[in-house]
Amino acid sequence: MGEMIKLLPDSIANQIAAGEVIQRPASVVKELMENAIDAEASEIKIIVKNAGKTLIQVIDNGKGMSEIDARMSFERHATSKIRSAQDLFTIRTMGFRGEALASVAAIAQVEMKTCEKDAELGTRLVINGSVVKKQEVCQSLQGTQLTVKNLFYNVPARRKFLKSDPVEMKHLLDEFQHIAIAHANVALSLYHNENEIYHLPASNLRQRILGIFGKRYNEHLVPIEEDASYVKIEGFIGKPKLGKKTRGDQFLFVNQRYIKSPYLNHAIKSAYEDILSPELHAFYVVFLQIDPAKIDVNVHPTKEQIKFEDERLIYNYVRVAVRHALGKYSIVPTMDFNQLSALEGKRQQSSEMQKDSFGSLGKYEDGSVYSSQATSKIERDNLKNWEKVFENLDGFSIDQENVGGESPNAVLHSQVEAEMDDEHSSIRYKAPVQVHDSYLIAQIKSGIMVIDQQAAHERILFEKYLESVREQKSMTQKTLFPSTLKLSPADAEITRNVLPFVNQMGFEVEDFGQETIIIHGVPAHMKHDEDPVSIFQEILERYKKEIPQEGQIEEKVAKSMAVSTAQKRGKRMEAHEMELLIDALFACENPYKSPAGRNCFITIELSELVKRLTTG
Ligand code: ADP
Ligand code: MG
Repeated sequence: MGEMIKLLPDSIANQIAAGEVIQRPASVVKELMENAIDAEASEIKIIVKNAGKTLIQVIDNGKGMSEIDARMSFERHATSKIRSAQDLFTIRTMGFRGEALASVAAIAQVEMKTCEKDAELGTRLVINGSVVKKQEVCQSLQGTQLTVKNLFYNVPARRKFLKSDPVEMKHLLDEFQHIAIAHANVALSLYHNENEIYHLPASNLRQRILGIFGKRYNEHLVPIEEDASYVKIEGFIGKPKLGKKTRGDQFLFVNQRYIKSPYLNHAIKSAYEDILSPELHAFYVVFLQIDPAKIDVNVHPTKEQIKFEDERLIYNYVRVAVRHALGKYSIVPTMDFNQLSALEGKRQQSSEMQKDSFGSLGKYEDGSVYSSQATSKIERDNLKNWEKVFENLDGFSIDQENVGGESPNAVLHSQVEAEMDDEHSSIRYKAPVQVHDSYLIAQIKSGIMVIDQQAAHERILFEKYLESVREQKSMTQKTLFPSTLKLSPADAEITRNVLPFVNQMGFEVEDFGQETIIIHGVPAHMKHDEDPVSIFQEILERYKKEIPQEGQIEEKVAKSMAVSTAQKRGKRMEAHEMELLIDALFACENPYKSPAGRNCFITIELSELVKRLTTG
């Protein structure tokens, strides 16, 4: 038989790797703009044709590259931004993997002109499909100019997957916006098919937002600003007027990097709970500055997801900051005690991190929200509450002048002391408890709530899986070793139909032909100890039970996957796991039913309890 295993030629390996970083024209624009920012450009011009499919040109006035660096920059894993793994913990630049240029050059026709400051001549490089066609000296202004033509010209399969021009342009504009918002101090312009789409002079964040979304936003922006030692939060949030039916203009940045975080989005949403109806999405541009050692940006190829060392703490900070900003601008009359009691819990129950999982949903947990005609007593309470909230958060130092806006320090202090032992103002936060390792019981304002942990988890995963298809972004964790599964011919046929969906939902399964599949990765939500093969088989079995009609495949796959990968009844949960689960459940579009139709939770009214306990 002889040997079967062959190393892939470099050119093909490059194309495969490129697919992770470069999915579409928008990815090229993102990577090239980020490089220009990293090169400290103060002005970047972007020219695209056919939504970037035929031409993307990014011209910057940054520091440029020497001849050797210019050549090196196209090598895979060539970067000037980190030197060792340790540097990953102190990253301040947008790029660091040294993959973008190599990837772009593998799947397009690329020309680079670059010139360092004070250099007489620059370098011109032409690379087609990873092959250097030309390298010469040239006349050039300081900075770098990259021209990327005919994306995926040599990978027809990928080119076919590109969507229509309007769709690709939408993606491209999204990426452009993220970078434009994150770098208001850089002048940016964007041209599409000879039309100027954006012309944004260097300015401040407010002006940049108006430049992108229109001047009418001006009166609806509320500044947000909290400076804690652990995290610094700033930006603008929209008054309720800017709320929209469709999710969209919500921008969260961590150390200037745009990220997606349903969890922190929930923190912001919950801060709006009583002033924005739940089907509307608030406008926000929120920046978090945090020590890079406390986050991990290296968890996803596009770096759009990051891991926080302590996500829960960040959640609290963000929610409090938004609440505070809304309060300062009298949008929310005053703070309510729900937040306070939750944050206080941190001190009272030091062993567990606390959060107002229920308070954050508006209708639970006891507490009072004051009317806008706040009396001075209420104002004082409010100030005191803020003071306490901040005191009780680890390392949260707050400039007292900022507490409550206009109020002078002295007044604040005497009030805080005077009311320090005002007992009735603090309502104890009650953590949920687990019974029979299967159900969570939580106190709500009107009585108690019983949550079926498995049904809830299925619902959460179901929506996550569907979302990754909708957003075309899946979170995969690579398995250490690929596992091979030999299928029956019938199963192989079904697998071929569902594979694209399964893969969009986080699996990385390869059809190896001859009824064999290879599993290279599993959804990131899946627990580590699970065997990929048996999970995949379980999914297939569930899916086979009710094979759907055309058009419903996606939902059925998501359902089978959710049920197969969810945590089962009988699993003991830690306090923080329970809270995360409850939060995630109520962040769902439909928290009521599991995909299989079970109730995720029921509530029992106090009056019902009382009735049953008193009769008979
Ligand atoms: P990364 O940004 O992760 O380092 P890239 O492949 O995007 O990797 O870029 C490789 C290297 O090329 C960068 O580290 C940087 O030194 C250099 N480079 C890329 N683009 C530019 C640019 N516009 N101006 C100056 N240097 C650049
Ligand atoms: Mg880069």
